[in-house]
Amino acid sequence: MAEPAFSVCVYCGSRPGENPAFAEAATAVGTWIGRHGGQLVYGGGRSGLMGTVAEATRQAGGRVVGVIPQALVDKELANRACDELHIVQTMHERKAMMAERSDAFIALPGGIGTFEELFEVWTWRQLGYHDKPLGLLNVAGYYDGLMGFLNQSVASGFMGEWQMGLLHASADAEGLLRTLVQSAGPDHAPVPLRDVI
Ligand code: AMP
Repeated sequence: MAEPAFSVCVYCGSRPGENPAFAEAATAVGTWIGRHGGQLVYGGGRSGLMGTVAEATRQAGGRVVGVIPQALVDKELANRACDELHIVQTMHERKAMMAERSDAFIALPGGIGTFEELFEVWTWRQLGYHDKPLGLLNVAGYYDGLMGFLNQSVASGFMGEWQMGLLHASADAEGLLRTLVQSAGPDHAPVPLRDVI
């Protein structure tokens, strides 16, 4: 297989969620990555939306890199069909490797694991630990409440508009992926993330 054109890190639920639109969006994201010759970097599981995005990427001809901590291999059903499956010792190693291997990040609907991953990579961006673009795929209004709260944080003086501006939020999977991949520069990580976290 040729070198992937780009790598997108996808954070998403280890469960499928109630609305079928969530899995449809995960399929659309994986399909887009695969069709455009890209590589998926993700949490390495077969459960929930994680499994859906990985399978869609693979079926569309994309490369799949999974990174999973040893302790979650059974719980999240480690995906042995990955082109690369990295079994690491800690959650910190997982997140650092996922960040290093990616050109851009996108969060789909998910739970607290997804929130934590998105917020961490967003805080790393605001601190200048990397300069890779970040997106939030707001499927079926799932993140409307979060967006409202984040805007309240800006209005209350705890966040600047520029910080909000670092997060591209959209309901359109393909448009968001295009924006993220096009805004990813050639040299994304000025500091190796492993050295700063
Ligand atoms: P969830 O959104 O809670 O379904 O979790 C989605 C993914 O995030 C799963 O692969 C979880 O293992 C992962 N996750 C859970 N907790 C954390 C954490 N503290 N840091 C990073 N990832 C996490």
